Amino acid sequence: MSNLLRILLLSVSCVSVTLFLPFLSKSDDISVVKEVTSLESPILIRFWGTRGSIPTPGKETTKYGGNTLCVEIRLKENNRLIIIDAGSGIRELGKKVVSEDIPIGNNTFDLFLTHTHWDHIQGFPFFSPLYLSQVKLRVFGPVQYENDLLENIVGSQMTYRYFPVSASELAADIKYYNLKQGTYDLGDNIVLRTIYLNHTISCLGYRFEYNGKVICTVFDHQPFSNLFTTDPNDPMYDEQMVRDGEQVKKEQNKAVEDFIADADLVIFDAPYTQKQYEEDSKSHDHSPIEYAIAVARKQRVKKLAMLHHSPDSKDHLLDSYARKLSKQDSDSKLDAFFAEEGMEIEL
Ligand SMILES: [Zn+2]
Ligand SMILES: [Zn+2]
Repeated sequence: MSNLLRILLLSVSCVSVTLFLPFLSKSDDISVVKEVTSLESPILIRFWGTRGSIPTPGKETTKYGGNTLCVEIRLKENNRLIIIDAGSGIRELGKKVVSEDIPIGNNTFDLFLTHTHWDHIQGFPFFSPLYLSQVKLRVFGPVQYENDLLENIVGSQMTYRYFPVSASELAADIKYYNLKQGTYDLGDNIVLRTIYLNHTISCLGYRFEYNGKVICTVFDHQPFSNLFTTDPNDPMYDEQMVRDGEQVKKEQNKAVEDFIADADLVIFDAPYTQKQYEEDSKSHDHSPIEYAIAVARKQRVKKLAMLHHSPDSKDHLLDSYARKLSKQDSDSKLDAFFAEEGMEIEL
């Protein structure tokens, strides 16, 4: 396939890939990656929100949780806090930060937004450290267009029309960084790699490498597909285009698969079964459970935490998925499970 055709296919299938080619970024706070030494150091991961789309409180979601996405990554050695996404779960995390971090002078935090869909940013105005002047918050995330600043997207939900406090009234020192696909040095021997995922807007997968441990996030994402019609009866059908489309699909999926290779923990968007995914077009934009497991096994991942649970997936349903999983998984080295709100993992 010619390079020109490949670029054309990429631009059709994933706008963000062509708009933002991989690069190395350098700014006042994050710099180009350097050699990193390897030391053992414990990391704590805690799930504050595991639900996708909309908070889903109630008796039937007490186990897996009703809050939308928020994950805490805590480096125990220096108490550094990295937060993934600001769904409604970030509210409770904020309370913990105010009661445990602020009193000991731990005031600087990083928030990585995977993308700016509502279920990933709606808790931001309720993150209580934002109202404390001693707090420094760095907010990282992708944007759809170069002139569409992350600050505006996140801050626009804090206008009087939607919320009683405007973004300009927040006391904390908040800095925003628009990320693209690339590799970043976050300091403290943390290397961050990012990759564009397949979603309706720019959406980044994150790979944190820290003292020999690797944590990846892959949400929200659906497997890449062939964008050309494969139906020979369709007037748009073109055999060569179909072949090229298949090749691009394979390459794009392989890039995401390779991204999570040998990770100690992968947190993967998997709200639906393969059957639901095939039968209901609304379930697209996300990955089937079976896909997440297959990719994690193939890439020798040690632990796979699946989340972005559908609001319709109540505890009994997720429990039944988990039972099936434990039967199928008896021979596998992969530890695959559905993330529960409040669940903690030590690496
Ligand atoms: Zn989502
Ligand atoms: Zn989304």
